[in-house]
Amino acid sequence: MTVDTHKETLEFKAEVSQVLDLVIRSLYSNKEIFLRELVSNASDAAEKLRFEALTDDALFEDDPNLRIRVSVDPEAGTLTVSDNGIGMGRQEAIDTIGSIASSGTRRFLENLSGDGAKDSQLIGQFGVGFYSAFIVADKVTLVTRRAGLGAEHGVRWESDGRGSFSIETVAKAGRGTDVILHLKEDEKEFLDGWRLRSIIGKFSDHIALPVEMLKESFGDEDKEEADKAPEWEQVNRGTALWMRNKADIGDQEYADFYKHVAHDFDEPLAHVHNRVEGTNEYTTLLFIPKRAPWDLWDREQRHGVKLYVRRVFIMDEVDKLLPHYLRFVKGVVDADDLPLNVSRELLQHNRKIDTIRQANTKRILGLLETMAKDEPEKYADFWREFGRVMKEGPAEDFANRERIAGLMRFSTTHSEGEAQTESLDAYIERMKEGQDKIYYITADTPAAARYSPHLEVFRKKGIEVLLLSDRVDEWLVSHLSEYKGKHLQSVAKGKLDLGELADKEEQEKTEQAAAEHGELLERLKKALGERVNEVRASTRLVDSPACLVVGEYDMSANLARVLKAVGQSAPESRPTLEVNLDHLLVKRLEGEADEGRFADLASILFDQAMLAEGGQLEDPAAFVGRLNKLMLTMLMAGR
Ligand code: ADP
Ligand code: MG
Repeated sequence: MTVDTHKETLEFKAEVSQVLDLVIRSLYSNKEIFLRELVSNASDAAEKLRFEALTDDALFEDDPNLRIRVSVDPEAGTLTVSDNGIGMGRQEAIDTIGSIASSGTRRFLENLSGDGAKDSQLIGQFGVGFYSAFIVADKVTLVTRRAGLGAEHGVRWESDGRGSFSIETVAKAGRGTDVILHLKEDEKEFLDGWRLRSIIGKFSDHIALPVEMLKESFGDEDKEEADKAPEWEQVNRGTALWMRNKADIGDQEYADFYKHVAHDFDEPLAHVHNRVEGTNEYTTLLFIPKRAPWDLWDREQRHGVKLYVRRVFIMDEVDKLLPHYLRFVKGVVDADDLPLNVSRELLQHNRKIDTIRQANTKRILGLLETMAKDEPEKYADFWREFGRVMKEGPAEDFANRERIAGLMRFSTTHSEGEAQTESLDAYIERMKEGQDKIYYITADTPAAARYSPHLEVFRKKGIEVLLLSDRVDEWLVSHLSEYKGKHLQSVAKGKLDLGELADKEEQEKTEQAAAEHGELLERLKKALGERVNEVRASTRLVDSPACLVVGEYDMSANLARVLKAVGQSAPESRPTLEVNLDHLLVKRLEGEADEGRFADLASILFDQAMLAEGGQLEDPAAFVGRLNKLMLTMLMAGR
């Protein structure tokens, strides 16, 4: 095999330097985090090696003691973080180091608002990892060699972080990676051993690997001492945090560990830490992030729970340890009783994994329930970030659907604004005497839901209605038909059945009116033809002349629109037009003798009802034409 040794200079992916600049500026006040990021990467690399070596001992190259070393060269002004982990090949270095979080970068830039405060929050969310080195260095040299390749396959990567990097093949005896920071003139404080020790103690105590530094000399040692080979000493605790006793772990330690496993720059919102003893022994440490990651809605979004077996890292992004609707949870599961060579396939049908998954789910739901009860404001933050994901829950996790539903928050006619703050339990408490259903409306936007004509009678009677306008809501209500024995009922489907809430007198009045005006209803049906299934007298309306309703078992008009918007087909179902016989417009319509005009008015009534619920007209131009004709007649008559 010939080795490609030529030196090449490559450009960063377009967005990288732009983001880099921003991030570095905003992280400057907290600049020592660069060390946490580099140690974190070194630790990841060591764990990858340990895992690959399970099936290929040779990768250890007679150097099985994994460790991270931090050293300085005061004369050269450099700080080096080196590991004997898995290392990188040439192409790997180009691909991984040349593009920071590439999928998120573009969206990150699109999200920048130019508003400093808002943007700095965004930046906090956006992990720069390796690139944080450029906060304190004006040049970074990385020398690496993939474990198992010969010494001649070393790779030297170098960049000043300004748009390009060079890469060449070099010789490197030991496997793993050295990251050499050429410190900026005014960052020489990071050459001080004590300063470095304190940073490592602060951020990297929980790393399950020893972090070593050279023993400090005190200047007055005799010559003999100075000639001795340098001695390394461990400067962090070096035990996996999750194996330690809960009582001995402080919040800050949990937070630092979270930043490491979740690759997040923010603190976590909450965590649960448990050791399970018995036939299936394992430890879990799970975190809920503060903010939704960029890729929460990507189909291939990666799960954030790592699997360890007896302290050995096995796999990242295991999707079998939690259901999909809890994919935002990050953390670690360390199982005692799984084989070390466990594969993804094996996880698929493993009873122990299933038990762990169920227990994890219960723990997270329990954690959220406690938060909702004891820290409602924090819970509101959680719901704002992750509510839409949780709404996938009832469809996926039938067994827990009632618990998940209990955690949900909605905007309702009782609440103000768009914030989703009301629980189903609170709704049930406010239910009217004789009310046995939970009413909801689905629409495209919060405003379309709140101002829909379908709500008129509910408003008049003071009955609360859930206002659902997230896309996932249609999916939710199709899988959550009941909560605590109360049926969830759409206000825009079927004949309005208010059960005991209906006013008998009013109902009789409507029935009587329907009989009296049967001819009008038939005329309307004839005029609208195929566009409607039926025209009937409405009991839902107070102020509006008409509204559209679908059959009890038909797909809601909103869902049909959502499906069409994402390019899927929806079954064509014809709506029913309900008219308000008390409305002046409808009353006047009855007296319209001109059949052509009647047909126009009927069409306008139908189109209006469609618009009022946020629908789209099939032929907007025709609607406008009819309306103009009408306006003209009116204006002429007024002359
Ligand atoms: P992240 O750690 O979140 O993946 P980073 O920017 O910190 O992002 O690192 C980018 C990638 O570079 C890592 O995923 C890894 O593939 C590679 N990398 C960085 N440091 C090392 C290292 N010391 N050893 C091996 N690979 C590394
Ligand atoms: Mg990293």
